Amino acid sequence: MRKKDLLSLTPMDIEEFLAGMGEKRFRGKQIFQWINKGIKDFDKMTNLSKPLREKLKDYAYITNIEIKEKLVSNIDGTTKYLFLLDDYNIIEGVVMKYHHGLTACISTQVGCAMGCTFCASTLKGLVRNLRAGEMADQILTMQKDMGERISNIVLMGSGEPLNNFHETIKFIKIINDEDGLNIGNRHITLSTSGLVPQIKALADLQIPINLAVSLHAPNDALRKQTMPIAKKYSIKELIESCKYYIDRTNRRVSFEYALIRGINDDEAHARELSDLLKGMLCYVNLIPVNTVEGKEYKKPNIGDTGKFQQILRGSGIEATIRREMGADINAACGQLRRKYLQKQ
Ligand code: SF4
Repeated sequence: MRKKDLLSLTPMDIEEFLAGMGEKRFRGKQIFQWINKGIKDFDKMTNLSKPLREKLKDYAYITNIEIKEKLVSNIDGTTKYLFLLDDYNIIEGVVMKYHHGLTACISTQVGCAMGCTFCASTLKGLVRNLRAGEMADQILTMQKDMGERISNIVLMGSGEPLNNFHETIKFIKIINDEDGLNIGNRHITLSTSGLVPQIKALADLQIPINLAVSLHAPNDALRKQTMPIAKKYSIKELIESCKYYIDRTNRRVSFEYALIRGINDDEAHARELSDLLKGMLCYVNLIPVNTVEGKEYKKPNIGDTGKFQQILRGSGIEATIRREMGADINAACGQLRRKYLQKQ
């Protein structure tokens, strides 16, 4: 029998697992509480009987990722981690310090299959999906290392969360549980490149998390140049799925727009984007693109970025320019892992 990763299970899953072993279901909550406090050693779960602890050692394990490398920004304290998984794969996580507390950006896959041309995570394609426990353990490990509670989670690290749908949903349920990390759904943001059927499926679950959609272009022709997913789903279909999400969850959707100099950052693009989003319950996050080694993209001029924002605002669309965090430590998605793989 394959051992079960208990950190990948909700309290109800653990109860089922225990019942399957002929154990009392109520122990599930106790085990879930221990695990989500970061306890990885069954012998430290002092309210469980010794025979149960021994049985758990035989039939279960608890994901334990290790910090392989850590970089702290001298500019803003952003902390970037390279984690080693039990199969020796490497993923990244980042903790950013904001006035409202710590926000963790976590990975949902090793690598990524989506092929966005501005992103370092996808350079070697998708290696594998992460288990829910490997996502949760990124938070537990960063929290322990920082010595402070992490209150906001963004699923914006390596990977397309909706391409690992089942484990991502399980992860959200695990960290939202009041016996675990107790992170409110409104403090969780899932970022997607725009998988239309999965956005609808997520909407139908009616979990009121924040949905961030990577748009990056106001029309299909331009979007296809940077995001291969645009060849599968048109912007029209994508916007319809976002409207469906808003209807089902009552949540505002955010659109991520990476500004790339000379590609998608001129005034005509801003006007086209305004027309596309006008009247929608949404806002736009403008992200001056990070330079990725091996790619030709350049950061937009500050003036152009400001103009772009003004045009959107002029159409009644809220738009913010994302402040760059950890500029001195390669904090952009996938860059540190890429450097590490190159060194190997
Ligand atoms: S931007 Fe996101 S979806 Fe696109 S390749 Fe990078 S990790 Fe994947």
